[in-house]
Amino acid sequence: MALSFWQRRARAPTLECDAAVVGGGIVGASTAFWLRRQRPGWSVALLDAGLLGAGASGRNAGFLLQGASGCYRDDCEAYGAERAKRLLHFTRANRDLIFAELDGAAFDLRPTGSLTVAGSEAEDDKLRRSAARLRNENVAAEYLAPEALNDRIGGRGFFGGCFVADGAVLDPRALVQHVADRSGATVLAHHAVKRLAAQPGGATVLETPVRDVRAERVALTVNAYLPTLYPDLKRFVRPVRAQMLATAPLPHWLDEPVYSHEGFYYLRQTAGGRVLLGGARHLHERAEVGYSTAPTAALQADLDAYLAEHFPHAGDAPVTERWAGTMGFSPDGLPSIGAVPERPGSYWAAGLTGHGMAYGFHLGRLLAARLAGDAPSAEHDLFSTDRFDDAS
Ligand SMILES: Cc1cc2nc3c(=O)[nH]c(=O)nc-3n(C[C@H](O)[C@H](O)[C@H](O)COP(=O)(O)OP(=O)(O)OC[C@H]3O[C@@H](n4cnc5c(N)ncnc54)[C@H](O)[C@@H]3O)c2cc1C
Repeated sequence: MALSFWQRRARAPTLECDAAVVGGGIVGASTAFWLRRQRPGWSVALLDAGLLGAGASGRNAGFLLQGASGCYRDDCEAYGAERAKRLLHFTRANRDLIFAELDGAAFDLRPTGSLTVAGSEAEDDKLRRSAARLRNENVAAEYLAPEALNDRIGGRGFFGGCFVADGAVLDPRALVQHVADRSGATVLAHHAVKRLAAQPGGATVLETPVRDVRAERVALTVNAYLPTLYPDLKRFVRPVRAQMLATAPLPHWLDEPVYSHEGFYYLRQTAGGRVLLGGARHLHERAEVGYSTAPTAALQADLDAYLAEHFPHAGDAPVTERWAGTMGFSPDGLPSIGAVPERPGSYWAAGLTGHGMAYGFHLGRLLAARLAGDAPSAEHDLFSTDRFDDAS
């Protein structure tokens, strides 16, 4: 939309900064945090089209899992044993960094452990093997047989499961806020970037309806929204929706977050007794694309049915909220860090698929190092876009 003479005059003056981070989710807030840590003298602006956590980071289940998916045996198949091992340890380091660097009380961080549970005999077999492989990696993992598992989680109809002792849960929106607060960056909410304009000398002007921001270097951390700024980058990330519901409080019965049916359902009980349940996307794949945050009756009915079937005592609880969010899916399920076209020294990170909490804080550190002009870290190749060139 073109601005009128009057509207343009009403805009705030251009903000000048050393670095601008566009996208205030977990990756953007973390990038600002690490950038200010690595370059304390730099001025950093963190922009979002809405409030911090407006995207997937403020809409997810808050599972802090480890590994590229919930099943380490699947990761070894998909990425090869060596790469899967490096991804596992990257996500474990992400978890350790969150515990070490941040004040967990600010975002209700709870070291509950986590459970991946099977919806079929075949999945049960994979989880049994996963537990053994994880133990080989010195991860405290335990296979639970069906009866013990169903007793433990008050569930019905699950096959076995894999318990990982150092899994955790958190409030993901509060995490983003806390990381942004700790970063000391200037937070600019409701600053939707419409265009990146190159300046003589290499700086970039980010054009927003509120004001322009001029930065020497830029990080784009808009995840699923990257193709809205750079349509060519849609080969690295596409928008896929996920839906959730929350119930009224129930008496406490469930300690650990439960990830089931190959990760297509996920359920936890909050400290206040509410049940948070998400998933069923695989039953509505063609519909669950795009940027709408509106839940759909058809998918939500499948969530209700799952609750009634597997946790019957919770099935009658009134549902107080239903919502959707948009994830950035990558072609291979792993995040990428790439160079912003024609903006030397500027980078993007996207494609966190359904696992942004597992990667985000640590990935922000890698992205910040690129922006600061430091040599790429030892883990950088895990997320390089070169892997897609190799495949073609
Ligand atoms: C329902 C649901 C449940 C999930 N559960 C889990 C879970 O339990 N554990 C887990 O690890 N992962 C989970 N995920 C995935 C996880 O939420 C994402 O991988 C993660 O939040 C991605 O973080 P991000 O910072 O890359 O992107 P986002 O959080 O999406 O942040 C991108 C930000 O960019 C902003 N933006 C977009 N365009 C512009 C623009 N032009 N200008 C300025 N700002 C812009 C958006 O407003 C948004 O705030 C879930 C996702 C959903 C939707």
